[in-house]
Amino acid sequence: MAYAGTCLCGDVSFSFQFDPMMQFQCHCSVCQRKFGSSLNALAMPEDELTVEGPVRVFTTKGGSGQEMHYGNCAVCGTSIWNKPEVLGGMLYLPAGLLAGQIEFKPTVELWSGGRPSFMAQAPTIKASFTDNGTVERIQELLENLDQRDAG
Ligand SMILES: [Zn+2]
Ligand SMILES: [Zn+2]
Repeated sequence: MAYAGTCLCGDVSFSFQFDPMMQFQCHCSVCQRKFGSSLNALAMPEDELTVEGPVRVFTTKGGSGQEMHYGNCAVCGTSIWNKPEVLGGMLYLPAGLLAGQIEFKPTVELWSGGRPSFMAQAPTIKASFTDNGTVERIQELLENLDQRDAG
């Protein structure tokens, strides 16, 4: 199964072949500012995503305190991906980019204390971390490799 999408203006397009390794939410204060609310994202190895078009990269410190790189369309500013230093080789894609193709069912939430008061915990959450859950998160990613085959 292949997935594909574009930014709002259409200058940036992307595609990937495999189901995401993990679907998760991040409620940290950096995501709240960047995305207007919590980040709903699909995680995958960065070499599985093909991107074409003008992407402008912005780097800042993420909720973990390590650098987060954001790839935005250089024309319309749509967030295409973000790459965390804390998990080298991984990439997060905002779930909304795949609306209509992948039903968002997050299994992990990070920085749970930052979840906005209007937002209930998603019923599909299996692991909730009060921080970035780095070590546990990597284990979770690896365990989820099995789920890709089923999907
Ligand atoms: Zn664009
Ligand atoms: Zn975050």
